[in-house]
Amino acid sequence: MIRLYDTKQRKKVDFIPREEGKVSMYVCGPTVYNRIHIGNARTFLSFDTIRRYLTWRGYDVTFVQNITDIDDKIINRAREEGTTAADIAEQYTEAFINDMHAAGVLDPDIRPKATEEIESMIELVSELVERGHAYEVDGDVYFSVRSYEDYGALSGRNIEDMEAGHRELAADGQGLEDRKRDPLDFALWKAAKPGEPSWDSPWGKGRPGWHIECSAMSRKYLGLPFDIHGGGSDLVFPHHENERAQSEAACDCGFANYWMHSGMLQINSEKMSKSTGNFMLLHEVLENTRPQALRMLMLQTHYRSPLDFSDERLGEADVALTRLENTLKNMDWQMAHAQYEMPAAIDTDMLLAACYAAKDEIVTAMDDDFNAPAALGSLFTLCTTINAELADKTISQVDAIPLAIVRDNVVELLGVLGLDIASEDQEEEDTYPFEVIFLADDLAGYDGADVIEAVDVLLDARTKARENKDWAKADAIRDGLAELGFSIEDTPQGPRVNLGKR
Ligand code: AMP
Ligand code: ZN
Repeated sequence: MIRLYDTKQRKKVDFIPREEGKVSMYVCGPTVYNRIHIGNARTFLSFDTIRRYLTWRGYDVTFVQNITDIDDKIINRAREEGTTAADIAEQYTEAFINDMHAAGVLDPDIRPKATEEIESMIELVSELVERGHAYEVDGDVYFSVRSYEDYGALSGRNIEDMEAGHRELAADGQGLEDRKRDPLDFALWKAAKPGEPSWDSPWGKGRPGWHIECSAMSRKYLGLPFDIHGGGSDLVFPHHENERAQSEAACDCGFANYWMHSGMLQINSEKMSKSTGNFMLLHEVLENTRPQALRMLMLQTHYRSPLDFSDERLGEADVALTRLENTLKNMDWQMAHAQYEMPAAIDTDMLLAACYAAKDEIVTAMDDDFNAPAALGSLFTLCTTINAELADKTISQVDAIPLAIVRDNVVELLGVLGLDIASEDQEEEDTYPFEVIFLADDLAGYDGADVIEAVDVLLDARTKARENKDWAKADAIRDGLAELGFSIEDTPQGPRVNLGKR
């Protein structure tokens, strides 16, 4: 049974999907007016991990994430750059999707854009007006907060406190205090201003308020009430409180059965802020960092806790990732060098049992509100066990088959956490420079055309040269490989090459 922390109930609860075996999930997407920063990436990676886990756990997950492609920030940016809001939105939607792919985040099943869903938003606003939960003033439509009894239940605020702080709502890009019947009310529809994009509606030309799009899209694509609504914790109030109010007021039904919020990312223990320069864009970070290392960093902190980002921690995460990769490489190398006509040399039954124990631990950790740091801990323990068993050994062909099953298990468990390391390795082999074939021809008489084989032939020739105390030849092979970017590591099992240094 999966248990998750529900923001509204303020405790961990059993997760019971509305339909057995299926999960409907909505996570608020970005406002596309600039490249996303690593704080946004933290939230998107957190929900990517959750979604991947639910899928691996056997659920058929439908994941919806919107693109807010009309908003004050987009309009302002378009003005600054002397172009249209549509142009800015298109440019940054594409950049967002590219950034998500670069970070290894899976595409949502459905990615609706606000500007393409205006009709369903108008429908929802009309229903709220008909039901007396919303009212029109000069082409604007406002939601009447006091008409919805449960307002504040999600964020744990009461109306009186909110009254005192109503400027928070006013600061929500509305600036039309005097038109509202109550300062707590918020805009569902905004009358068009000259020069701004607008759409026809029963209240004249205008555009939607921010909150309404998520209510309209989740209802349309998932149906109400759906299972999980997610986002960063900064969205709880007012965005999610307002989404919930307008959705539930329109249907007298539930909106989201579970609310999940990820903690904020900070840089060097301080709030990320553009004005102080304490700010990092995802694509800039990924220029110098492997995406899997960034994911490793994110996994090391529980998704609900604040995450402290620093270059130092990113470097440490990269080292941790390399440790996991080395276990896979270790197994690969052993399997490639297994000896015939030799009895079993390692305890593969013990290794397989360790895999199954790790799998159980990972399921227990992830079922407990997606505790990825604990799951990672089990993965590292497993890798340590495997490395220790392989150390200083030459394995037999008899060991190679069960070891391949151990390897498959490790790859699967890495994948549960979104760490697709195995495929990265494959790519690495594919990038061996072809010149290594000429080098193998020159120095070892190789007449084939396979880069991986050529490297093996060179290593064998180097080993033979060393046995014959032909140091000049052994050095020539090492130097030739080094020129092509390979480094040789001598291990008890023989030499191993790495392409490039990490
Ligand atoms: P926005 O485009 O500002 O609506 O943000 C998109 C997503 O990123 C939302 O789910 C936000 O909650 C989330 N987000 C924004 N800043 C941070 C941060 N510093 N740490 C984690 N998530 C954030
Ligand atoms: Zn939303």
